[in-house]
Amino acid sequence: MTKVDAAYGRSPASGIAQRIKGLFSRSGRMTVQPSRVASVDHISPDFTLIRLEGELFRAGQWTAGDKIQLAVAPGPIGRTYTPLSWNRQRGVAEVLVYLHGDAPGCDWARRLTAGQDLQVVGPRPSIALNALEQPTILFGDETCFGLALALHNLPGAANIRYIFEVGDAAQTESVLTSLGLHNALLYERRPDDSHLEAIGNEWDRLASGAGSLVLAGKASSIQFVQRANRASSARIHQVKTKAYWAPGKRGLG
Ligand SMILES: Cc1cc2nc3c(=O)[nH]c(=O)nc-3n(C[C@H](O)[C@H](O)[C@H](O)COP(=O)(O)OP(=O)(O)OC[C@H]3O[C@@H](n4cnc5c(N)ncnc54)[C@H](O)[C@@H]3O)c2cc1C
Repeated sequence: MTKVDAAYGRSPASGIAQRIKGLFSRSGRMTVQPSRVASVDHISPDFTLIRLEGELFRAGQWTAGDKIQLAVAPGPIGRTYTPLSWNRQRGVAEVLVYLHGDAPGCDWARRLTAGQDLQVVGPRPSIALNALEQPTILFGDETCFGLALALHNLPGAANIRYIFEVGDAAQTESVLTSLGLHNALLYERRPDDSHLEAIGNEWDRLASGAGSLVLAGKASSIQFVQRANRASSARIHQVKTKAYWAPGKRGLG
């Protein structure tokens, strides 16, 4: 493992090193680690599954729900993703990138090919999925499929209810099914957010009997579901939240 500053051949005090720290992470002592792209699978028009390999994935202490940051463009520009799997024996991890538009992370994933080198920061804690009261409800969007699959892949995880707001239900269903997630409830996004009203109206039924709630994805949708949960007679008390993105904000970490 190389300290972030040393990885770029600069003294810790140099401007470039500080910029790398700032771009990759707001935390102080981060490490940038070299890895390699083992394979790239454009599984649908909007989703790319990337397998990464390297010593980091053998040595790194990963808990399901942790995040990694990838250098997606020179600068470097870092973007945050959630490994859906992490195999220490084989030294590989997988991330699923949602191609939401024209942006550095999306452009990088579209152009990526197997064999490319890649700088990675992490893993770092984000949403710990290993101590949830069951059954769990996970609400999110396309950016949370990695998180959902990490939860789905946990030994002993059972009775998880997945609720996603998505742009294209047909495409999403086929992507999730191909990755082994068969029982997700999909609400197609509407410009006036009336799909969220529908989730709110059904929350008593959706939340009934659940022990924990994981909320990730778009910041305002998380807030909406949080309010619906608080107001519900079936209120879930163990709640974990993490905003993955918000309109106009770039590269949330
Ligand atoms: C802890 C954590 C884990 C994450 N895990 C994943 C993951 O596994 N897979 C994944 O695909 N994403 C994940 N994300 C979300 C991802 O980091 C963001 O979507 C990020 O903005 C993508 O970078 P970009 O370069 O594509 O867009 P940016 O340059 O960051 O953003 C450009 C513009 O696009 C908007 N935007 C960003 N995301 C979306 C979106 N989903 N839909 C519509 N507009 C958007 C921004 O608000 C901004 O206006 C995670 C984020 C966090 C914080």
